[in-house]
Amino acid sequence: MKIATEPVGSIPRPAYLIEAMGSFAKGQIQEKELSALTEKAIRETLHLFEQTGSPVVTDGEQSKPSFATYPIYGLKELTPDGVVIPFADGHTRQLPKLTAGPFHYQTYANSYFEKAKKLTQLPVKQAVISSSAISLLYPQEGIPGYSREQFIKDLVNEAEADIRRCLNAGAYNVQIDFTEARLAIKLDPSKGLLKMFIDLNNQVLDRFTEAEQKKIGVHTCPGGDHDSTHSADISYTELLPLLFELHVGNFYLEYAAEKDKTSALKAIKEFSKPNQKIFIGVTNVLDPRVETPQEVCDLIVEASKFIPISRLGTTDDCGFSPFADDTSTARETAFAKITARIRGTQLAEKKLGN
Ligand SMILES: [Zn+2]
Repeated sequence: MKIATEPVGSIPRPAYLIEAMGSFAKGQIQEKELSALTEKAIRETLHLFEQTGSPVVTDGEQSKPSFATYPIYGLKELTPDGVVIPFADGHTRQLPKLTAGPFHYQTYANSYFEKAKKLTQLPVKQAVISSSAISLLYPQEGIPGYSREQFIKDLVNEAEADIRRCLNAGAYNVQIDFTEARLAIKLDPSKGLLKMFIDLNNQVLDRFTEAEQKKIGVHTCPGGDHDSTHSADISYTELLPLLFELHVGNFYLEYAAEKDKTSALKAIKEFSKPNQKIFIGVTNVLDPRVETPQEVCDLIVEASKFIPISRLGTTDDCGFSPFADDTSTARETAFAKITARIRGTQLAEKKLGN
């Protein structure tokens, strides 16, 4: 039996693209020039992806401003002083704050998918941001004339459209980036916030049929950025039981960098549901050292003692560069790690006698 293997999404952008994005933001180059360089980067990324032997590819999120903010890029009704997310190494990322409604996405993820699909024969998966992450844009003090309830209604419609457009366009599957799940427990140890996030995401997911939910997945991790994390100190066993309440078929779980892997596997075994496929991260995206295929194989063999092979898959712990300006991982390193994941997964298939 084949063991499924899929990337999470982002690949570090080439230096020429990051430079062009900067020049465009300063008005030094035209949109046409930026588009040409973006397409070049997507083409090169897909080519390198194909060379790894990856059965499923992504566009490497080359043109996404970040995994979280693409739907609001260019939105006028925003101020920069929203929720601050602190990372373990002391750096922060700040979300913007919504100032008026009605709320609409500026960009839907199918626009990325459709560009990539034209450039490769391989199945392409597409990542979207969770509705719970976008819900953080609504300010605590409220917006006069635009209630939180109305905002949530608009948001659920938009998040549904974001996923549905990708499925309709022929995406192999859609992955919801839910990196704030573990962070939610840090912000609210009673888990009330996490439960609220899960309820909100399920409101979106319940608009899809069971067959469609099989093509939808969720990625969670401790939030990698500049080789640091925002919530690795929260135990996985606090998160996993609730995570599996999400109405999706696939889970892409950070795993290789976890210190206590056995507890994570026990929680997956106990709380995941028979119709849920578990893709465990077998490459640590925060460590520049490239794993060997044998190391990857060993992780899979260990996990197979807890998760039946028919429900087990492999992935990378996270995207290699969720924010466009994060160059902490080299492009070559990302592809070397992906190659190790593919080879290690093949090794495990042999070893497990399938
Ligand atoms: Zn991640």
